[in-house]
Amino acid sequence: MKLLITGRPGAGKGTQAVNIKEYYNIPHISTGDMFRAAMKAGTKMGLLAKSYMEKGQLVPDEVTIGIVEDRLSEADCKDGFLLDGFPRNLAQAEALDKFLTKNGIKLDAVLDVNVENSVLVRRMVGRRVCKNCGATYHVEFNKPLKDGICDNCGSPLVQRPDDTEATAVNRLAVYDEQTAPLLDYYKKQGILKTVNGDQSFDKVFEDIKAVLK
Ligand code: ADP
Ligand code: AMP
Repeated sequence: MKLLITGRPGAGKGTQAVNIKEYYNIPHISTGDMFRAAMKAGTKMGLLAKSYMEKGQLVPDEVTIGIVEDRLSEADCKDGFLLDGFPRNLAQAEALDKFLTKNGIKLDAVLDVNVENSVLVRRMVGRRVCKNCGATYHVEFNKPLKDGICDNCGSPLVQRPDDTEATAVNRLAVYDEQTAPLLDYYKKQGILKTVNGDQSFDKVFEDIKAVLK
């Protein structure tokens, strides 16, 4: 399975990616996670990404496209992958197509997890992530067993710095302006599969499996 998962910020891409990765046994490649790892490691690229991420803006294409191409060239992506959060604008989508064609790779599907804007700020502001293993929770919709502690590894849960209300609103605007046109782009390629992301966690995954059958 060679897949992309797309959708507005907070739609549940990362949450469903955990299920998809396990079910189809493919690596999950999230550009957001890669930038956060680079920030944590304090690399030059991490510092650069931070200055964009904290404002809710897109990290420049020349950086983003390069890290995705490098990652897709690794051996574990040979038989499949799930790209999450990339591409996010037309230039990235075209660069990805060029890379895929050059390497004889064909995408099986682009999954669009569709959730209306009104739900999403609440989802983002209430999101909590494990500092250690990256597991995602929500203060209302997916509470850990013990407040503020990861069920998987017992580490503290934190709020992403870009999950403030103001930044979340800005990220939604960036999506509408730059990422939404990609739906048409992939529809024209005949590989767009839309699922309703405003349902229970399990139902969303059931629908994903059904459209990928
Ligand atoms: P994305 O990767 O698309 O930004 P996440 O998967 O991190 O989104 O989900 C954003 C927040 O919404 C998280 O706190 C997550 O627990 C919560 N969430 C995800 N899917 C659902 C759902 N189906 N119903 C309610 N909350 C959800
Ligand atoms: P995410 O984890 O997908 O919500 O992404 C968090 C932030 O990382 C975004 O708001 C951007 O600043 C940056 N980012 C992630 N993916 C991309 C991308 N494909 N292009 C540019 N910036 C990105």
